[in-house]
Amino acid sequence: MNLSKSKYCRAIQCNKMLWLDKNKPEEKGEIDNQAVLDNGTKVGELAKGIFGKYINIEYNENLDKMIYDTKEELKRSQNIITEASFEYKNNFCSVDILENNGDSVEIYEVKSSTEVKDIYLDDISYQFYILSNLGYKVAKASIVYINNQYIRHGELNLQQLFNIEDVTDIVLEKQKEIRIKIQEINEYMQQESEPMQEIGMQCFKPYQCQFWQYCTKHLPEHNVFQIRKMHKDKAIKLYYEGKVNFKDLVEEDLNWRFKQQIDFEVFNYEPHIDKQRIREFMKNLYYPIYFLDFETMQTAIPEFDNLKPYQKIPFQYSLHYIEKENGELFHKEFLAESGEDPRRKLAENLVKDIPKDVCVTAYNMSFEKGRIKELAEIFPDLEEHLMNIHDHIQDLMIPFSDRMYYCKEMQGSYSIKYVLPALFPNNSELDYHSLPLVHNGGEAMDIFPEIKNMPKEEQKKAREGLLKYCELDTYAMVKVWEKLKEI
Ligand code: SF4
Repeated sequence: MNLSKSKYCRAIQCNKMLWLDKNKPEEKGEIDNQAVLDNGTKVGELAKGIFGKYINIEYNENLDKMIYDTKEELKRSQNIITEASFEYKNNFCSVDILENNGDSVEIYEVKSSTEVKDIYLDDISYQFYILSNLGYKVAKASIVYINNQYIRHGELNLQQLFNIEDVTDIVLEKQKEIRIKIQEINEYMQQESEPMQEIGMQCFKPYQCQFWQYCTKHLPEHNVFQIRKMHKDKAIKLYYEGKVNFKDLVEEDLNWRFKQQIDFEVFNYEPHIDKQRIREFMKNLYYPIYFLDFETMQTAIPEFDNLKPYQKIPFQYSLHYIEKENGELFHKEFLAESGEDPRRKLAENLVKDIPKDVCVTAYNMSFEKGRIKELAEIFPDLEEHLMNIHDHIQDLMIPFSDRMYYCKEMQGSYSIKYVLPALFPNNSELDYHSLPLVHNGGEAMDIFPEIKNMPKEEQKKAREGLLKYCELDTYAMVKVWEKLKEI
């Protein structure tokens, strides 16, 4: 089989993944990773310039053309070549950055991650294998990855944005196993009938496998892998002990949260509502009461000043509020212009919309508090008011995360996306699925930066979609609060 870097790495994780990819691609599940892919592409492009001027080998479906172009550039003694392409015995690779020093070369693999993962070492070892077998003297192999301590001030500083780690010694050690692995992959891929492969930790590490649904279609509806927040190695262990179904796990000595999820499902228990603790919790909330929710985006490459890689940037909020007992419910909102740094305007609007000393609620408050603190750090003139909001935030998630209120429909989760339908079943007004365009934070994060590139009419629709989504988030919080008050 013709191998590439990505195919080789997939086979390192699981041979069957590669086999299914080729023979049953229709069984591949979707993984929502558009933002990750976009970040990867942008980082790859930017990193090409890390050593200054370079020649890029243009992508061509005809790989021979890329290989030919690479040879030509090497002949011309071009110093830095990106996407330099090589093939050795049907094993193909494009090197992200190749430094050509005449009698030797150095290779660099670029990753949008903030650390060097083991799979990257396999990736670059495979490239080293191809080049060295073709007769190139590879003097150095390195991973280029994001330095998460970098803070942008003015122009991007590529030398500071990226870390470069020399991994030559590890790559040299791995060379022995590569020939054997390639042979193993080729034999495996020749199998015509579907190979047997038990599930295991390889299904989750280094990446969640997209064939998981397919490979676990034999599992019962309520199985050990659905226990919320159970470590995968623990779930795998129980699975191999034959404790697969929730019913098999009733007697198992597990953490009380896991047991609660299992028992409520198996014995069909009535909701658990600890009125006393909920009453205590509700004493922390007072009028005027505000319900706040942010939407954020994050990019590997900091687009604005005072920003780190992958720092979450709030670009939108929704705010419901009630001023007094039995008072009217009001709504305010803010949505920044796509393409601009949203933080200053958002912070200014936030302090205009939320007076000091009022009770502010958030669902999973560490997120909102974290963003407000970051805003206070970069806008000293707004710091006092922002920190006043910060210090008055209460977490509406606590009754559910602390299991003061639990029912089986929550499926072990305290995310509002589970809590809401559990508290208000069949309520179309609170159904995220019925929203136009944006249905979750991931979609909001993907759409917002794209708005600036859309035609006017689409921009309008996208903004409406974002506003409706975020409004539902805080309206849902109001309903949750009302439910807790009823109790
Ligand atoms: S789900 Fe697991 S066993 Fe199935 S292909 Fe993926 S990694 Fe392999």
